[in-house]
Amino acid sequence: MTPRLLRLAGFSAALVLSCAALPAAAAPAQTFNTDAGAVSITPIYHATAMIQAGGDRIYIDPAKPAKIDGLPPGDLILITDIHGDHMDPADVTALSKSGTTVIAPAAVQKTVAQAKVLANGQSTMWHSWKITAVPMYNITHMQPSGAPYHDKGRGNGYVLTYGNRKFYFAGDTEGTPEMRALKGIDVAFIPMNLPYTMTPEEAAEAVKAFHPKVAIPYHYKGQDITKFRDALAGSGIEVRLLDWYPSN
Ligand code: ZN
Repeated sequence: MTPRLLRLAGFSAALVLSCAALPAAAAPAQTFNTDAGAVSITPIYHATAMIQAGGDRIYIDPAKPAKIDGLPPGDLILITDIHGDHMDPADVTALSKSGTTVIAPAAVQKTVAQAKVLANGQSTMWHSWKITAVPMYNITHMQPSGAPYHDKGRGNGYVLTYGNRKFYFAGDTEGTPEMRALKGIDVAFIPMNLPYTMTPEEAAEAVKAFHPKVAIPYHYKGQDITKFRDALAGSGIEVRLLDWYPSN
């Protein structure tokens, strides 16, 4: 068994032990202490995650092939972009109940009409959360046509502040100046896959610039995320490698 397979086997064992009550989770929930109580973040698949805090449930980018069967509806749903691995109107409907708020960029609101629009750079309050939209876009990795996979201004990464802690979901992006300029991030979820975002090495280099306390690769299908961890060795940034791609 290769080291990678051994590592994945370890993840599978952890999954069996920890997720009996939440069959759709890919990896164990990550829990962080804040001044307002615990925040629990559960990887579901690829870019899909569930956040729980203060009795509220938040989904970010619920989209197939993430399995949402059996998951309770959310109080808030955040969507980053129009691509099918982030925006899935049927899953948004399935995870909504009376009173669910949906926040998304304008390009998403064209399809998910119930969404409240938040543009790059804007912030809003929802319950005890401050939600700030951060630009997400390509700077070097382009389509064969020369156009970016992600145009600046179309999608939102999000900085979510709760109990004086900041959680950053970067969305599909490279290490933009806006990412590098972030301050005081406690936990950063960072994409790394080509051709759509950036390499693990590029991701590590960008993360060094804003130096979150904890960095967690997500949206990394097909990449060797140990390269991201190794590139950050000695940086003082805690890297958590989680399996966002359960095999069943
Ligand atoms: Zn994507």
